[in-house]
Amino acid sequence: MIEVKQRRDMWTFAVLFTALEVAFLMIVQVLFYPPEMRAYILAREPLLTLMISLPVCLYLGGQMHENYLRKQELKSLTQRDRLTQAATRDFFYERLAEEPDAYGVSLMVDIDYFKKVNDTHGHMVGDEVIKSVAQVLRANCREVDIVCRFGGEEFVIFLHKVSPEQGLDIAERMRRSVASAPVRAHGATVAVTVSIGGSLKEVSDDIDASIGSADLALYQAKESGRNRSVMQWMQKAA
Ligand code: GH3
Ligand code: MG
Ligand code: MG
Repeated sequence: MIEVKQRRDMWTFAVLFTALEVAFLMIVQVLFYPPEMRAYILAREPLLTLMISLPVCLYLGGQMHENYLRKQELKSLTQRDRLTQAATRDFFYERLAEEPDAYGVSLMVDIDYFKKVNDTHGHMVGDEVIKSVAQVLRANCREVDIVCRFGGEEFVIFLHKVSPEQGLDIAERMRRSVASAPVRAHGATVAVTVSIGGSLKEVSDDIDASIGSADLALYQAKESGRNRSVMQWMQKAA
């Protein structure tokens, strides 16, 4: 399937297609017309084809470019959360379903006392806080890791192929980064913290089970005072 990704590719498409048409028609004419007519036809055919085909191909190229943009927009709507540009829950599961043998660390991140942010500063500021936290989370992990907006002010992150120690380090780095970056929005400055629960996902583990364990660890982080990271394997050792 040919994709016209950029506007200038419309021209490439139109010129190439027209050139192909001219070449094809010339071959057909050389093969099928009597020799005495060839010179006459060959002198006019390229110009005529060019005049008809180029505008038509340009129009088609334009339509293909529009289709490409719409397809990308649709993809982005289903894969990316509008507010934060984090992965949607569906896309997160889709990506992990492609790699059932993935191993690493699942993190569940929840903004602390977020209701109070909404109540004090309003939903618009609340939205900016969610957006900013998502940015901080993304800035602290790699391209291969998936940051997903799991629900309102909750995020799930899957850190591919990291050890428990690295997972805890990354979670703590995220937690500290959020705490040290107050959000400025609509004239307000809001300092927020996050609590993080983490769990291991071994090759044979189910991602839902891993998220469930991370959620339990998050509950512990909330219970023990918030603004902290609790890892499920630390719980087991305790
Ligand atoms: P905790 O520390 O226990 O997590 O306390 P909390 O106040 O954060 O509690 P909870 O998780 O129950 O509150 C989440 C709030 O997030 C409730 C809901 O109104 C708000 N919320 C959910 N989605 C959005 C959103 O998209 N924008 C805004 N502004 N608020 C949202
Ligand atoms: Mg919550
Ligand atoms: Mg919360």
